[in-house]
Amino acid sequence: MHSESFPRITIALDGFAACGKSTLAKDLCAALDYAFIDTGAMYRAITCWALREGVEPDASLPWARWLAGLPLEWQMSDGKFRVVLDGRDIEEEIRSMSVSARVSDIAALSAVRAFLVRQQQILGQHGGVVLDGRDIGTVVFPDAELKIFVTADKEVRIKRRFEELQAKGYSVTEAEVRANLAQRDHIDSTRLDSPLQAAPDVVWMDTSAMSRALQLQIALEEARWRCQKKNGWAAR
Ligand code: C5P
Repeated sequence: MHSESFPRITIALDGFAACGKSTLAKDLCAALDYAFIDTGAMYRAITCWALREGVEPDASLPWARWLAGLPLEWQMSDGKFRVVLDGRDIEEEIRSMSVSARVSDIAALSAVRAFLVRQQQILGQHGGVVLDGRDIGTVVFPDAELKIFVTADKEVRIKRRFEELQAKGYSVTEAEVRANLAQRDHIDSTRLDSPLQAAPDVVWMDTSAMSRALQLQIALEEARWRCQKKNGWAAR
């Protein structure tokens, strides 16, 4: 792959939690020298703030005003996407089970979605980006050149997320992970504002039994193909 000659398109990866979106996003960014925008981390960061302040996910509260003054920053460097709250990197906190348990309720608030969708559109406006989330191909970048809907078998997802959290040192049981994924799947796909759904023009990718290398290969082939179709650009 000659990343310097590859057009700077927008790649949208959507799907349920723990299907392998962020791994594929990072691999794509490394291969293409693109920037990674982890939109789930943005919803998690606001959840972190809400938990800290004791704020309920209640739509009648003045969310738009609070969000406008929130001490949050997004940083993209060395292929990593980081969220900074009050000048502090909160990567570890946002992955905790207390944040995972509350994030889907916060993400269902329209004021929160409107605020973050705008931020994501600004961050990705020049292309050369991979965004992973739930509404990227439907709402944030409906014109993205490549949209992949990532899926995986439920048991595979539970095992993956459980092992990932254990490896990072979080104290969590498999039953807790199972319950959290089921709760988030339900809220994320049934909320009124931008529920998780596949855009009509997605490429489906089931990662249950697919190696990381093969996922990347397929995604790169699709990216090349979309670029050729759109710009008459030839990669080979
Ligand atoms: O991707 P991740 O699992 O970290 O996302 C955490 C939560 O943030 C999701 O379960 C969902 O509720 C919310 N989210 C969303 N829209 C996005 C990304 C994440 O609603 N684009």
